[in-house]
Amino acid sequence: MPIAGIYGPDDFGNPVHGHSAMQARSRVSPAERARALPMPSLEWTPEVERVTAHLYERVKNVISPVEWPFMAPYVRAINELKKARGAVILAHNYQTPEIFHCVADIGGDSLQLAVEATKVKSDIIVQCGVHFMAETSKILNPNKTVLIPDSRAGCSLASSITGADVRLLRERFPGVPVVAYVNTSADVKAEVDICCTSSNAVQVVESLQAPTVIFLPDQYLAKYVASQTEVKIIAWKGACEVHERFTGDELRAYREADPSVQIIAHPECPPDVLAEADFTGSTAHMINWVRSKHPKRVVMITECSMADNVQAELPDVEMVRPCNLCPHMKRITLPKILDSLVYLREEVIVDPVIAGKARRSVERMINLKN
Ligand code: SF4
Repeated sequence: MPIAGIYGPDDFGNPVHGHSAMQARSRVSPAERARALPMPSLEWTPEVERVTAHLYERVKNVISPVEWPFMAPYVRAINELKKARGAVILAHNYQTPEIFHCVADIGGDSLQLAVEATKVKSDIIVQCGVHFMAETSKILNPNKTVLIPDSRAGCSLASSITGADVRLLRERFPGVPVVAYVNTSADVKAEVDICCTSSNAVQVVESLQAPTVIFLPDQYLAKYVASQTEVKIIAWKGACEVHERFTGDELRAYREADPSVQIIAHPECPPDVLAEADFTGSTAHMINWVRSKHPKRVVMITECSMADNVQAELPDVEMVRPCNLCPHMKRITLPKILDSLVYLREEVIVDPVIAGKARRSVERMINLKN
């Protein structure tokens, strides 16, 4: 059914949240310098070539032999420092292949990373993804050190809403339960009843057994959920700046050029895009769909590094890559990951009271029975 209403900060007389001005990346502080390990050599040598050869095998379909000598010294240094620090690296599906396939210990979508974060034994987690993901890891691991290689890696969805907005929505709709997509700040997670990801959004909404649910902040995911359930959905005016740019016309053009092509899309896309897709699903569901169907040619309507990561794994599937990059995800690079491990920076801090409340919303989602 269509969504029952859609709200934004302007509906409460508040200024519309823009992208907050990003602070310059901080310099290495004296405390960080004091706990630093020596910066490893970053020369391309026969030894580096030899010890990284098995990793290059994983990505040779998507990274050229000309590029690898610039990446391999970082890959080797990061993998050695990771061991020295006893750290684990979590990487989202939208990270570039040299990160996703060559230095990450665990890769996946937001739900997979949130679940894996609860099982991590290491005392140090390096989160290769955007800030709300690192916050989620910290919320679930309050006693561990969680690092993000660049704390400016934000998200247009997370910055579209605040905890104060959620309190105003609750005043406007008393008694209506609130579901927050994980793409939200800890402050927002602390105010809601339960979190969800794009993998489990419909299941989470229906688990509340309420006739109406407030679903925030992604208006398009809200519309997708509303199309899959009888529950009445009240939405928020947030959007992913990457998925919002795709259009139905673009998908029709792919199909006209090759009627046999398969098109799979992420539910953060607008409805006219999803109407043209052969399959709609979260990043994890999209990857599983390609693995199981093994199409000859496929267009993945999502952030473009994911197609590279799947291409590295499945070289015989031809990927058409519409390239909508997430500028926030792309802030995470090999040099910054190395920097994180050398200096143990940038540490993610969440107020313990907010973290405690937010943990309840995230754990309630994780503990939902399938
Ligand atoms: S791809 Fe969209 S939802 Fe994901 S981090 Fe980037 S802006 Fe946020």
